[in-house]
Amino acid sequence: MATTTKHFVAGEWRAGAGASMTDVNPTSGKPLAEFPIGTAEEVDGAVRAARAAFEGGWRDATPNVRRKLLLKLAQLVADNAQELGRIATDDMGMPWAFTMGEAIFTAEYVEYYAGWADKLDGATIPLSASNTLDYTVHEPRGVVAAIVPWNAPLSLALWRAAPALAAGNAMVIKPSELAPLPILRLMDLIAEAGFPPGVVNCVTGSGSETGASLVDHPGVDVVAFTGSTTTGRRVAEAAGRRLIPVSLELGGKSANVVFADADLDAAAVQACVGCFVNTGQQCIAGSRLLVERSIHDAFMEKVTAFARGFAVGDPMQPTTQMGPLISERQLDRVLDFIGSAKTDANIALGGERLGGDLADGYFVPPTVVTGVRNDMRIAREEIFGPVLSVIPFADEAEAIAIANDTDYGLAGGVWTNDLSRAHRVARAIQAGTVWVNSWLAVNPQAPFGGYKSSGIGREGGREAIDVYLQTKNVYVQLH
Ligand code: NAD
Repeated sequence: MATTTKHFVAGEWRAGAGASMTDVNPTSGKPLAEFPIGTAEEVDGAVRAARAAFEGGWRDATPNVRRKLLLKLAQLVADNAQELGRIATDDMGMPWAFTMGEAIFTAEYVEYYAGWADKLDGATIPLSASNTLDYTVHEPRGVVAAIVPWNAPLSLALWRAAPALAAGNAMVIKPSELAPLPILRLMDLIAEAGFPPGVVNCVTGSGSETGASLVDHPGVDVVAFTGSTTTGRRVAEAAGRRLIPVSLELGGKSANVVFADADLDAAAVQACVGCFVNTGQQCIAGSRLLVERSIHDAFMEKVTAFARGFAVGDPMQPTTQMGPLISERQLDRVLDFIGSAKTDANIALGGERLGGDLADGYFVPPTVVTGVRNDMRIAREEIFGPVLSVIPFADEAEAIAIANDTDYGLAGGVWTNDLSRAHRVARAIQAGTVWVNSWLAVNPQAPFGGYKSSGIGREGGREAIDVYLQTKNVYVQLH
């Protein structure tokens, strides 16, 4: 019998009043939990709890109080990494070795933003008017609604929560309906860390009901959304109607460009890791591999040899490198994309659902598609599965043109030993992150976010805090 979860509001667990949904383990296809679909009234209760906490003292909590609470939370997340990892692995299928690592890495994000809590200073501004003191202060906006996807639930919730809390806001988190459990466990840790009741609340449910009610709620002051570009547009429209700031971390279709002069062994490994980690369910997947024509065949032999060796299977096993896709729906979608490429391109590796011991889960192996043109569906749309589309190019100019011929702009990569070319191409790629001779590195100190339809705003670094703050200018007439 699957357990039934509750909402976390005003520091207490509250049973859902409306309908519920079933959370499924994608490895076994079996139910894990029933969770309530937050109604508009329940969302209202959570937003009111956040407002009450904000106005009832949290807004005025001194920076060192916020810093210490965040440091305590970071420690608890790191201390509980094994358990948090196991919960996430059961819920969304990323291998346990990786979900544990994700928890430890995320604790560093929280520590980093703890450090910002007491450094959000304003400025004194020299005016042309004499006898005037002019200074600025940065104030929290109030209640932040954080809407989170399922593909890295813990980190994506905390990447929003840590800067928002460091800045002094209260918040309501809406986890994805596909993997709410890690975020519900996080609520216990937030309470244990000592955050006052109501500062962080969590309402589970669907996007169309719970998520939409939250975004439309008049008590919400900022929306921090991570998810697909399609939903991001809807969220931005709702925020626009209310004229509140929104930060959007959306999808991608990133190009990884390999030139003939690169370290081809390293490039082949990273081309696979950058696309297949988390079963390709990452916004920064290097899902378009652009390969210089002169080395194409030799390089693709290296790529397929490495991809063939990926250990796909039970994500709780320590040797597993790739688990299942998140859901049956996503499995059908990925297979449909692969099917769409079969007539015009070549499936060089993978391409079929895995059976045998894995038949109950939603498993597709690393799939490499060669001979792809950039106008094909698999090269244009975000697949969110382990599918690498390989596109040959003749020279630097063509590589840049193909890399930028996309609606997205989240990330890009360039592999070359020519220093000038590395910087030229990095400058030319229209994306928020460019990796040179690497892929996947993300750090709390560095900004992360999208150009074009991949988003608005940045996570990581000082910039991530700006959306959660507003600036007040104070003129003081001196006599
Ligand atoms: P999704 O857009 O389907 O859902 C994301 C969240 O939005 C979920 O919590 C969902 O319930 C909620 N939602 C859905 N409709 C809503 C509505 N009308 N109003 C308010 N909330 C609503 O995305 P997903 O399938 O959960 O996640 C995968 C997507 O997320 C991919 O496109 C991926 O690239 C993107 N992503 C981006 C980043 C980034 O940092 N750029 C990180 C991770 C994932």
